[in-house]
Amino acid sequence: MTTIELVQGDITRESVDAIVNAANSSLLGGGGVDGAIHRRGGPAILEECRKLRASQYGKGLRTGQAVATTAGDLDARWVIHTVGPVFSATEDRSALLASCYRESLRVADELGARTVAFPAISTGVYRYPLEDAARIAVDTVRAARTDVEEVRFVLFDERAYETFARQLR
Ligand code: ADP
Repeated sequence: MTTIELVQGDITRESVDAIVNAANSSLLGGGGVDGAIHRRGGPAILEECRKLRASQYGKGLRTGQAVATTAGDLDARWVIHTVGPVFSATEDRSALLASCYRESLRVADELGARTVAFPAISTGVYRYPLEDAARIAVDTVRAARTDVEEVRFVLFDERAYETFARQLR
């Protein structure tokens, strides 16, 4: 059984086995939660991301996929980087967003992580409507077959927190 917890705040302050990053396909850093993770986690994360780009991920990480690195100075063992879809009004990309949650949990299982913190993937610069993103996040985690014992959604602002809370009820 995976329990789902909700927290409002900054994901880089969480103590968990793995923190999920809403990365971009370059894996080389960006704004939003990605920028915050690299800032607080320090250069060790970027160094491992660069090595991934130089080896298996020459073209970057595809949307909906996930890969782990060290968590550097964060209070976690790993950062799991996943690339959410950019929202499109003309194409349904919900399967790609669901894949981010599923693949991140698959990587967490491979690592042996038991507690995993997720941000609201794609709801920032990638403009996914919060309501849809929250429903996909909660449904996908609820349906996942995983050994992860606790999934913690860490929502940056009150509106995101309330939207996720409504989905959980
Ligand atoms: P994306 O490109 O996937 O949309 P963003 O980082 O722009 O990623 O935004 C994803 C979500 O993360 C947004 O809801 C944003 O408010 C939130 N966010 C930004 N910084 C943090 C943080 N430090 N901790 C948790 N969530 C954050």
